[in-house]
Order: sequence, then C-alpha cells, then structure tokens
Amino acid sequence: MSSPAPPPDVRQRLRALPSVERLAQALARSLAADAAPARHTPAEQRAAAREAIARLRAELRQQPATEATPADLLARGLDLARQRLAAQPGLIPVINATGVILHTNLGRAPLAKAALDALLAVGQGYSNLEYDLSAGERSRRDRHGEAHWQALLGCEAALVVNNCAAAVWLVLDTLARGQTALISRGELVEIGGGFRIPDIMAKSGVRLCEVGTTNRTRLSDYEAALANTPDVRLIVRVHPSNFRLLGFTERPSLAALAALARQHNLLLFEDVGSGLLADLAGCGLDDEPSPARSLAEGTDVVTFSADKLLGGPQAGIIAGRQALIARIRQNPLLRVLRADKLTYAALEATLRLYRTGQTDAIPVLAMIRQSPADLDRRARRLARSIRRQIPPGSATVTLEAGQSVIGGGCAPHVQLPTTLICLSPRHLAAEELAAHLRCGTPPIVARIVRNNIVCDPRTVLPAQERDLVAGIVRSLA
Ligand SMILES: *Cc1c(COP(=O)(O)O)cnc(C)c1O
Repeated sequence: MSSPAPPPDVRQRLRALPSVERLAQALARSLAADAAPARHTPAEQRAAAREAIARLRAELRQQPATEATPADLLARGLDLARQRLAAQPGLIPVINATGVILHTNLGRAPLAKAALDALLAVGQGYSNLEYDLSAGERSRRDRHGEAHWQALLGCEAALVVNNCAAAVWLVLDTLARGQTALISRGELVEIGGGFRIPDIMAKSGVRLCEVGTTNRTRLSDYEAALANTPDVRLIVRVHPSNFRLLGFTERPSLAALAALARQHNLLLFEDVGSGLLADLAGCGLDDEPSPARSLAEGTDVVTFSADKLLGGPQAGIIAGRQALIARIRQNPLLRVLRADKLTYAALEATLRLYRTGQTDAIPVLAMIRQSPADLDRRARRLARSIRRQIPPGSATVTLEAGQSVIGGGCAPHVQLPTTLICLSPRHLAAEELAAHLRCGTPPIVARIVRNNIVCDPRTVLPAQERDLVAGIVRSLA
C-alpha cells in the first residue's frame, strides 16, 4: 500500500525521526535502568519500538505545524514504546500509592511474610494436600485449617472455596435449590464485578421472596412473608458492604431473625462479606460485621472473603453448623469451586498469625493500624528524599493532610487520616507524569488530585519505599 508523497516540509520533519533500531536500543537502555529486570523479550521491545515509530510518523503527518527536534522525537518515541509494553498483559508487582488498602484492581490484600514462606515451602515440592500422614492413606484437602476456623470463629465446621461469590452460590444451591429464600429489599445488592445477589440466587435455583422496603424492613415483614409464602427454607441476610443507608432506616437484629428462623424451622444464612477477624477498635470499623459475631448471634451458616479484611489469599469461607457444612461438602459442584494447595498454604499461615496474636504481621491490618504520626514521618522522609534527587526545578514536592480508605467494597464510610506527598510537575501535565509512573518498572499507581500527583505512604510497603522514590525521580528526569 503506497500513501501519497508527503509535502516537502513534512518530509523534512520525518527525517528527524529516530530509526526503529535506535529507538529499540534507547528502550533497552531505559528498561535496564529500571529497578526490576525487564519482563519483555528483545523481540517484544523491538515490536514496541516499531509501533511507536509508526505512531510518531502518523502524528507528524497529521500535525504539520509542530516543530520537534530529533531529541524530542526520541523521548516521545520512548514514552510511546513504554506505554505499548505496559499495555501488554502479564502479571507483575506494582506499587500501590493510592491509599486504597484493599484495591480490588491491584490484587486486594498483600500477603504476610509467613504466608509467602508457606507458599514457597509447599509450592516448590510435594505436600500432604490430600494425604493423611499418620494413617498413610488418602484424605481430604478441606481438613487443612479447620481447627483454626473452629478456634477463631467458634464454629463447628468450615470449608474453603475459590472466593466468596462461589461460597454464596454453593450455600444457596445446597441448602435451598428449588425452595424459597426470604431477603430484605434493602439487601438485594450488587457487590461489584457483576456479582448481584438476586442474580446469584436465580442461578442457584432458589426462589427469591423480597421482604420490606429498601430503607426499612421489620421483623413483622418477614413474619407476613412466611404466612403467605409456601416452601420457605432459608432467611438470607447480606451485609451491604459497599454502601451505607443513612437516615430513616431499620432492619431487625440478627438475633431476632435467628429466633424467627428457629421458630419456623428455617435456616439463617448471612453473607458477611469482608471477614473481619481482628480487633480494629479505634479504626472506625466498629459497625463492620464479623463472622464470629454473626455465628454467636445465631446464624446457621456464614460466608466471607479471605482477601479482604482478613488479609489472606483469595478464597471464600463457609462456616457454621457441622450438619450443614457436611451437606455442602457432598455437593458435587464443590469440586468445581475448590481451592488449590497454594491457597491453603497461605491461608493456614495467615490464620496461625491470628492464633498467636501476631496480627501486626498481616499487612492489611498493619496498614489500617498505622498511626497518623508514623504516616507523617514516612511522608516527610520520602518527600525529602524525592526533593534531593529530582532534577532542580522539575517539580514541587509538598505534603498535605488527606484520607486513606479501606476499599474492596468494605466500610465505604471509614476515612483514615494520612499525610499525602503531592508532586506538582513543572514541565509535564499531571496525567503525563502519572502515565510515566505507571509505565515504569515496578509501575507506580498514584492518584491525581487537582492537577497534582498524590502518593499515600499508607499502602506503600516499607520494602517498596526505595523503588517509589527511584521511580518518581526517573519519571521526572
Ligand atoms: C466482597 C463480597 C462478596 C464477594 O467476595 P469475593 O471473594 O470477591 O468473591 C460477596 N458478598 C459480600 C457481602 C462482599 O462484601
């Protein structure tokens, strides 16, 4: 395909373009200066350089008025090539400077050192995943960690599946398929990522009977529904984890619902969601439900995530009465939803930290508990270090009081006071600097507030501080 010959002035500007070879070499040098080894092969780097040059050529043809030196074009080509590489999928670590602790897009809970050690130990060889060492015979994977759940939740039995959405589906499918479940209209929520309670109930073959109104549901609404509805098996309670109803609201206590369920020979199931096991008094999480409290108040079965406030790997936990968990174990679809050995390894190690009172070793809990004074000290130290190393006049670096949030659809009303590092670049738009930070290695994800880049030290792990500073310095150079 031949395009029409460009006019002479465009032709001259195109001559200032670097060759693909030259850009690929500059890209390799720039990647080598990153903190982590490049994950892209030389062939991928060359392809990114080629695409960047093609894009630059198109830009030069379309904007004939722009004057760009060869050095400008090389720098722009480098940006484009790095963006192409960053756009390619491939799971890599990033620095979360957003201050959102359970950032679902960034992988939710970082794991504790003990959990990582367990992953390595179990993953690099064989394990007793489904083997009883004392008897020398086959056994079940779901007995791992059960004693910990019994001790931590006060439950009779527990089961681990792939995530909490799977746990909810499995409970409904096992306990009420073909029958009816009552649920308050205020709890027909969407959790996120397309997980909607009414849809999941429909998929599990459970008939939904809506009770009460969006903002107020009373015990008498449940009683009236029971009187008018045949074949009710289950009362479902869902924690509306990602929003808060304020004002004229009401719903019965869990204990009152449990009494009603017993009186009518029904089961009470609560999807608690976040799996708060620790004492986070003073962190604003007082009204966050805990699975232990839910069971103590009389629910028969609870479900929750392991990678939210629990601070472990992705998993869903089903805990409750022995007879019910035994039925769920018999569901043939448990095989479809089962967790793998690495999940069990990391989860058990995390639970052991709870049992031995070492919850500060769980990164999510340590981040939530970090004091404003500590955060202020860290922010000051990081800002000093950035100011010392960036090219003079490239940006102003200031500190500002701000808020971190829990994230992951948990406790949306909780704001944790922090100190933010604000970068105001002199020669770049904030969006451009943010793109540079995202395309570095390791990538840095920050917030943009009023044309500033804002970094919250709360979610930056202590071991990542050097890479954070180095990445910012490189992006401003
Ligand atoms: C987060 C959440 C879920 C889904 O949990 P995953 O582990 O992400 O599948 C379900 N229910 C509630 C109430 C939640 O908060």
